[in-house]
Amino acid sequence: MADFSDIIDQSQMKEHMQHALKTGKVSHAYIISGENGSGKEYIARVFAKALQCEKKITKDDGVIEACNECHSCVQALSESHPDIITITHEKPNSIGVDDIREKLRDDVVIRPYESSYKIYIIPEGEKMTPAAQNALLKTLEEPPAYIVIIILTNNINAFLPTIISRCIVLPMKAVQDDSIKKFLMEEKHIVDYKAMLCASFARGNVGKALELASNEKFEDLKNGTIELISKLENLEIHDMMDRVHALLEPTEEDAKNSKKGIDQGLLEEFMDILLFLFRDMLVFKATESDEHLIFSDKISYIRGVTQKCTYDGINRIIKDMETAKNRINSNVNIDIALELMLLGIKERL
Ligand SMILES: [Zn+2]
Repeated sequence: MADFSDIIDQSQMKEHMQHALKTGKVSHAYIISGENGSGKEYIARVFAKALQCEKKITKDDGVIEACNECHSCVQALSESHPDIITITHEKPNSIGVDDIREKLRDDVVIRPYESSYKIYIIPEGEKMTPAAQNALLKTLEEPPAYIVIIILTNNINAFLPTIISRCIVLPMKAVQDDSIKKFLMEEKHIVDYKAMLCASFARGNVGKALELASNEKFEDLKNGTIELISKLENLEIHDMMDRVHALLEPTEEDAKNSKKGIDQGLLEEFMDILLFLFRDMLVFKATESDEHLIFSDKISYIRGVTQKCTYDGINRIIKDMETAKNRINSNVNIDIALELMLLGIKERL
């Protein structure tokens, strides 16, 4: 249904919006900034629906929510509300001055059909060209009383300072791993070890966690990576690197953007899987319990390694992996960086 109670964490953002709903002191312009997948549009639509609702409800905990039943709410829920307007753009990579002029600047003069507000949502706001931003600025300088503009962006630095100074900036915060895990388990019925894994990899981004949970390729990568490490002692260098390439091979559509047959996104996940795996070993060595492990499904392998490896040995592997990560980021030959790292792990295991 999408209400304030469904938004995970983001207490500052919710507090600000609730204050606006309670007092009626609504700004003419907001910027919601955060990573792709963090839920910016979801929150903007919850706020817009509540602002427009004809029969707002105050819950026992004092939170104001939309009723989800009035005419306005029904239209908002089906994304057909005449006074909640999404600014779309023709070109995929830019929002041009014509988009802003036609869909916003020339439209704001028309009063709302039947609501108190006329709300404009601008997704991917960072794609506005300087000319488009200047066109928007004209509206922000003299906004009609009834308008609320909500700009969504993954890059606040893309805006002219004059735009930022006229908007209330609401940054998305990283969501706690535990909150994401709870959400995946309770709302999406994902089993606990997988929910924990996806929450750890998502680094506070709910959309990323959801994507990982439904992505079979990630599951394959995880299993393949751990299998590679568990067989490392019997592999020659070329077998080892063949397996790495098979794991990190880009899909056909991604192949044109990647260097030397390695998919950048898969490589990052591969490195994270390794890092979390060896961190799990440290945790298991310290606690002798699988309770806090990310890869609790691989407990027998983890136990086996921790029996023959010292604390110091595992710590060194983690250091080597961080070195490899830095080498990769500074554009050293990826194959060589990975080869050195895996040989180091092989030696220490
Ligand atoms: Zn309503």
